[in-house]
Amino acid sequence: MILVFLGPPGSGKGTQAKKLTTEKNWPQLSTGDMLRTAISAGAHLGLEAKKFMDLGNLVPDSVVIGLIEDRIRSPDCIEGFILDGFPRTVPQAEALDGVLLKLSRKVDQVVFFEMDEKELVTRLSGRRTCTVCGKMFHVTFGPFHNQEVCEQNPLCNVIQRSDDLPEVIQNRLEVYHRSTAPVAEFYKKTNRLKSINAAEKPEVVFQSLKNLVK
Ligand code: AMP
Repeated sequence: MILVFLGPPGSGKGTQAKKLTTEKNWPQLSTGDMLRTAISAGAHLGLEAKKFMDLGNLVPDSVVIGLIEDRIRSPDCIEGFILDGFPRTVPQAEALDGVLLKLSRKVDQVVFFEMDEKELVTRLSGRRTCTVCGKMFHVTFGPFHNQEVCEQNPLCNVIQRSDDLPEVIQNRLEVYHRSTAPVAEFYKKTNRLKSINAAEKPEVVFQSLKNLVK
């Protein structure tokens, strides 16, 4: 099963991908996480990408396509995987189809996470992230953070991502409308797109997701 999670920033793609990964054993392939890992490691690619990410702009297609192409050839992707935050442009979607074709595989389902723009801003601006294990928190909705809640590492380091600052959020949403919304049309044309209401509570969204991908 090859799944693509598509939707605006803050619509909960990452949270739901993590839940589904635990249940189905399909790895979550998040280009945002891969880029942040490259930044933390001080890798040249990461430092170049950071210039785009800090402003809420997209990293060039060639960079993210290269990352994904390498990753999907890994043995843990044989049974299936969840693409979270990729593709974000039509050329990325076309490149993905091309790479998968070479491997005699295809995107099976695309799940579109629908959410109102005002709600997205509230979610993104209150979001806090652990730089150690990637766990997410929220200042208004919870889960709230303290040193104990990051199970994977006692050295929990919860921050506000630089691209979750208000001025950057606005640009990310504009970039989404300009470059990523057309990807939904791309998949609609080939009958691969299904939508879920991402504004519901995470448990409800997860149930809708499971109903779609069973
Ligand atoms: P995310 O964690 O998915 O919200 O991604 C954070 C940032 O990483 C985005 O705002 C982009 O700057 C960059 N990024 C992640 N995935 C992609 C992608 N598929 N194409 C281009 N840039 C990306």
